[in-house]
Amino acid sequence: FNDELQRSEKMEIISELAASVAHEVRNPLQVTRGFLQLLAEKQQSQDKVYLNMALEELDRASGIITDFLTFAKPEVAKFTSLNILDEFIHIEGILIPMANLQGGKISTEIPEHLYVRGNSSKFKQALINIIKNSIEALNGEGDIRIWAYAKQGNVYIHVRDSGEGMTPMEVSRLGEPYFSNKSKGTGLGLMVTFSIIEVMEGELTFVSEKGVGTEAIIRFPEDIE
Ligand code: ADP
Ligand code: MG
Repeated sequence: FNDELQRSEKMEIISELAASVAHEVRNPLQVTRGFLQLLAEKQQSQDKVYLNMALEELDRASGIITDFLTFAKPEVAKFTSLNILDEFIHIEGILIPMANLQGGKISTEIPEHLYVRGNSSKFKQALINIIKNSIEALNGEGDIRIWAYAKQGNVYIHVRDSGEGMTPMEVSRLGEPYFSNKSKGTGLGLMVTFSIIEVMEGELTFVSEKGVGTEAIIRFPEDIE
């Protein structure tokens, strides 16, 4: 019991620290990116290749922060009752501009009184990682439908995209660390997502067809107040 307590205290300290570091590190990364970009635009020589490699590595570093710590706050990860609609209002603030920029459409249908138990930052991180993959799978056109409902003591959230889809082999590898088919991917997004959903005693499944699209189905125990 003592060991367990110490372990969870350590985990808390680590996650608080990680959140602070993410906040502090993100700005200098962005500033560095801006300057390197300026330099890269001016160069014609071999140096341009090195500068572009440096830019790609910076993007990888930012990607890792995004996959783990988009909503992280330097505070203890509390479990509370989460209103799905409220959480989505914050999630949309990040994702709608991202979808607009990349040329996809997102629509949501979420009723007002759906509750699950969990940590708000972690919940948002899990959903962001799923929806961001959908945006990226669209490759510039198509749409994403998100809907949620309660059924038999559970809350279900569906995220369906008309993106590139996956083979059964790819679906079976989802959540595996470093599994990525993207040139700038981290392969860490869904690993994080699966672990957050597991801690919330929920379940994540994917149904996908290559060339047609993908649907993520998330189930959580309903929190009835
Ligand atoms: P990353 O996005 O950095 O590649 P993820 O863990 O988020 O890492 O996803 C792993 C891989 O799973 C992606 O590279 C992609 O090939 C596949 N994938 C995940 N979600 C989808 C989706 N909605 N449509 C198509 N492929 C997907
Ligand atoms: Mg991802």
